[in-house]
Parts: sequence; structure tokens; C-alpha cells
Amino acid sequence: MIEPKKLQINTPDNEYLVVPCPSCDKETRNKVLADVFEHMQYADALIDVWTNYKIVQCQGCLRVTFFEVSQCSEDIIYPKNGKPFYPETKTYYPNRIAGRPLLRNINYLPRGVNLIYKEAHNALCAQLPILTGLGIRAIVEAICKDKNMVGRNLQEKIDSLAKQGLVAIEGAKILHNLRYMGMLLHMKLNHIPRKNYVQHSMSLSTFYRVFTLYQNNLKTYQKWTIN
Ligand SMILES: [Zn+2]
Repeated sequence: MIEPKKLQINTPDNEYLVVPCPSCDKETRNKVLADVFEHMQYADALIDVWTNYKIVQCQGCLRVTFFEVSQCSEDIIYPKNGKPFYPETKTYYPNRIAGRPLLRNINYLPRGVNLIYKEAHNALCAQLPILTGLGIRAIVEAICKDKNMVGRNLQEKIDSLAKQGLVAIEGAKILHNLRYMGMLLHMKLNHIPRKNYVQHSMSLSTFYRVFTLYQNNLKTYQKWTIN
């Protein structure tokens, strides 16, 4: 077991940070209740890792959560203009992304869609873009299966959803976009630079929008809850 080179525990009186709050579903002012700084060294002190573990309390809803911020000497970036720096990696517990809450009333979604949606949402909040992309593709397939859509492929099945009025034209376009996203993953996973794929997957606001459509469009939503 490697001992930390340095371990420092603080309980600051007056330190505040802006971080996403899972209850308020937005970035809020949080009071730092406790902060543990840890400096680890690996590979005969060739690699340094600095981590701050923070317990914070939202000053809006008073919820207490936890997050860590770490930097590694191996990740150093040399910008063309400016000083070298170590990028920060932030991890929140529970996982969260401001503005991407679970949908309200998701229990009204068909069971198969509901289960996949919750797992895909967890992957999204944990910033796992590849698993999120797979989850989105699975959601689209589950929607078509639930509605017994006919068609030789997923594209035709989504078109059937629109023809039968189960999704609006805009909703069908979004589903096609999600299908295309999943298709890219299936066909080109090994050829997509991770950076590009992350950017691609981060456009997953469509993931949120398509289901918001169901929530906002009562007629469509009722069709989903019949059966
Ligand atoms: Zn809050």
C-alpha cells in the first residue's frame, strides 16, 4: 500500500464553490464543510497525483454531497500560448449534470424503455459517452419494439412511429439523429477518435429533448400510457 506523501484535512469556515446540485438541478453556491487534500506519488516518485476531496452543502436546498477534484502530472498540457498546466478531473457523488435531471413521471414510460432510460441517464451523468451512446440506441430500439413498429430496419420503424402519430415529426427527426449516433458507434467505434466521440456524445441534449416532447405533449404522452 502506498502512503500519501501529504495528507491535509481542513474544515474551512468561509469557503464556497459553485457546483451542480442534484436536487436543485442547476449549479448552485455550495459551502465547503470539509476538504481533504492528498498528494500521492507513483513509479518511484516520477508521477504525482494531487486530489481534493470535498464535502459540500448546497446553500439553496441544504443538501450535502461529495466531489473530488484531481490532477495528474502525466496529463500536463503545453498550450501554444501560455503556461503549461494540469487539467482538473472532477467526479461528483452522486453523479450529476446540471440541467439533465431524470424525467418527471418516468414510471409512466413502458417498462423496457424506463429501465434503459434510467441506465442511459446514469451513464450520461457519470460522463461515460460510449455507454451513453449505446444506451440511446437501445432506447430508440425499445421504443419501436414497444409499439410493434413494422419495418425492415430501425429507420423504417421510426418512420412508422411518425406515420401513426405516435411521435411528432420533430420527435421522429430527433429519434433518427439518435439512431444515427448509435449507428456510428456500432460501425466505427474503433475509428472514431475519442475526443470526437466525446463531443458527439455530448450533443446528447437530444436525449433529453425527445422525452421532454412526450412529457409536454399530453396527447402523445397518453398514447404512450395506453396499453
Ligand atoms: Zn440544491
